[in-house]
Order: sequence, then structure tokens, then C-alpha cells
Amino acid sequence: MAYSYEAPVSQSLFDRASVVTPGGVNSPVRAFRAVGGTPRFMVSGAGPYLTDADGREYVDLVCSWGPMILGHSHPEVIAAVQEAVSRGTSFGTPGEGEVALAEEIVARIEPVEQVRLVSSGTEATMSAIRLARGFTGRAKVVKFAGCYHGHVDALLAAAGSGLATFGLPDTPGVTGATAGDTVVLPYNDLDAVRAAFAAHPGEIACVITEASPGNMGVVPPADGFNAGLKELCAANGALYISDEVMTGFRTSKAGWYGVDGVRPDLMTFGKVMGGGFPAAAFGGRGDVMAHLAPAGPVYQAGTLSGNPVATAAGLAQLRLLDDAAYAKIDAVSAELRSLVGDALTKEGVAHTVSAASNMFSVFFTDEPVRDYEDAKKQDVFRFTAFFHAMLEQGVYLPPSAFESWFVSTAHDERAVERIAAALPAAARAAAEATA
Ligand code: PLP
Repeated sequence: MAYSYEAPVSQSLFDRASVVTPGGVNSPVRAFRAVGGTPRFMVSGAGPYLTDADGREYVDLVCSWGPMILGHSHPEVIAAVQEAVSRGTSFGTPGEGEVALAEEIVARIEPVEQVRLVSSGTEATMSAIRLARGFTGRAKVVKFAGCYHGHVDALLAAAGSGLATFGLPDTPGVTGATAGDTVVLPYNDLDAVRAAFAAHPGEIACVITEASPGNMGVVPPADGFNAGLKELCAANGALYISDEVMTGFRTSKAGWYGVDGVRPDLMTFGKVMGGGFPAAAFGGRGDVMAHLAPAGPVYQAGTLSGNPVATAAGLAQLRLLDDAAYAKIDAVSAELRSLVGDALTKEGVAHTVSAASNMFSVFFTDEPVRDYEDAKKQDVFRFTAFFHAMLEQGVYLPPSAFESWFVSTAHDERAVERIAAALPAAARAAAEATA
């Protein structure tokens, strides 16, 4: 595919990056390999906008893959960071900021009785799995195809996100021994979960699921699916782990738990709770968390866990996320979904706009999408054309058909108008695209 627009400064930065960094990026989906073209190197962000190294401004519908729920450079978050930084950047001791952030999480999310702070979502899910294994004395982990839980060895089997983007079934480097304890099942299929418990009696430590998946595109749980998981786990002595790294503090004040009310044994968080800094967490039932060192025998640690700058950013962000903020994000999301759907319908493009609260994505198929197999059946080449037409007109979408789109409180009327103006040409490009 030829692109009629250029990004010479980004291109030269990408050339430099490709010499010193594998693939030129520090996280694979950023490389634009699924859509082709030059990844944009961003230099600044303000509200709903990003500016790249060539001086072009984009309306941002990626929001750093979820964290920037107040938009970029929110003055109160920046002020909290500056205040924290002025006192030092890391002490390697306990500090009040991490207590306050943990209290905020516990106050918002009722099933979380205790929480441990870490630095990435990957660390959160990895630690939650270890804790579940330590608590139950069992080895096996059930996960669902298309759900991504970070690049934890045992959880990379049939994962979504970058693995979906690149069509990778799993990855070299994960040994058979590690993956052998992972049972991968189709999403939204309770019968498969029942069968797994029957096939492995007394062996399954936990079932981990994205609270509402956003890493195979947005595929919400069918009615009763999460409740069914919880019930099956309880009946079989396994823990139910809800991965809210993406949905946490985004889909409502209490994340997806605030939407479906199904009470997990353990939960994982990241993204929004760090305010754009590396902060994540796992938490849940007090009796389970009590097994964690130094209170209990399951080891887990981190040099920068609870970092004072990251916790200040996260706390400032969470404190600004009140009911009005969520109402605003939900409204912008609904408006964009209807604009995107209308534009594609007008051009006769088969599509499904799939939403879970304010998270949404577009599948280029009109067949229902209930799991990863369904998601893969879409016309990805139409997304590619749509993506580049939007980019050319200054709208930055996730460079993959298998990722959620994110909005923020900063996406105001002007930003929405810019997106609306770009949609007709993008929908036409999708209609005219060929495989
Ligand atoms: N879990 C989910 C649901 C995610 O979406 C992600 C990242 O996208 C992770 C875990 C891993 O988080 P991180 O990229 O911070 O390691």
C-alpha cells in the first residue's frame, strides 16, 4: 500500500531506533507492522491531542493504550508529579503516597481488601498467578484465547494484543514445562470451563480472564459469563482472577466490577491507576493476600514498587475521576461510536461497533464477535485502509484491528468534530480496499 503523506523526521528517528532497538520500538504494536508505514514518534501531548516529531497534530484515540483518561498533560496531574519530583524520585522505603494510593483503590473497589503495588500490568498478573498457585497448592491456570495478560510466560499462549496483531500462536522462549500448566479455552464458553474442571480435578489453581476483553478488539463477556466463572471456581476450589489492567478505573469508578458486580478473589490493575507512569497493582481477598511476603510465604518484590512519583501521578488522576468524569467519557464514546457506525454504513462497509462501557473498537465484519476466532474473521485489510486514511487526516487510532480505542475527559467538541470530518474519507477508503 502506498501512502500519500510522509513523516520524514519520524522516519529518520525510526531508522536510528532500528539500529539500536529490535524492530525500532520498545513494545511491538507501536511499530506499525500490522498496518505498514512509519510509526509516528510523538514529542508532546496536550488534552486530546498528540504532536509528532514532524510537527503534525493528531486527535489521540489511543490515550497511551488506556492510561491517559484525563487527556495528556492534565494540569493537576502534572502539578502533583512536579511536587513529588521536587522531593526526590525514589527512596526504597515505604512512603505515604503508596499508602494513599492503596487506600484509594481499596475504597473504590469493594472486593479489594488488600493491595500490593507493582510497576506494570505484566508484573501484576504474574504475581497474582503465583499467589493463586501458592494459596491453593495447585499448578494449572485457565486462560482464554484472545485475552492478553501481559508478557507473562505462562499467559502468552493464544494471547491477544500484539500476538493477535501479528498472528502469533505463542512465542519461542516459553518452555513446554511453563506452558504445560496453562489451559487455554475459547472465550465466552462456560461449557469449556466446566469440561476443563472435570478433566483436571483438584489441579486448577485459578481462572484468569480479562474482566471485559479489549485485546482481541472489544469483546464483552456474554450475560452471566463472569458470574458463571466465579461459580465454577468456587465450586472447584480455584480462585477467580479478574484482570482489570485495561478496564480498571476506566469502565466505571470501580472498573468492570462496577459494571457487572461479580466479586473476584483476586484482581489486577495498571494503566489508569498510574496516571501515565509505571504503576500497577494486584489485590483482593484478605485471606489470600495474607499469603504474600513478608506476611506470608509467597515471594514478590520490586525495587521501584510504589514509586513516589508514579503514586503521586496515579493518585492525582484517580481523585479527579468522579461520576461527572465517567459520564463525560461515556458520552463522548457513545457519540464517536455512532459517528463511526454511520460513516461505515453510508459507504456500505460491513462492520460491527463493539463496546464495553466506554471502551470500543470496530470489527470489519457484520457477523457477531463473541470470541477470538470470530474476531480473526474480520476484513483486516479494510481496517488498514481506514487507519491510514484517519492518520493522514490527523486522527491517531491504535495501529491494529485487535485493540480497543480509548477516549478521555479531554475529548471535547472540537476533537469530536475533527474525527467526524475525517470519517467519510476513511470509510470510503475502507469500502474501496482490497485484500
Ligand atoms: N492485562 C491486560 C488486560 C492488558 O491489557 C495489559 C496490557 O495491555 C496487561 C495485562 C499488561 O500490562 P503492561 O503492559 O503494563 O505490562
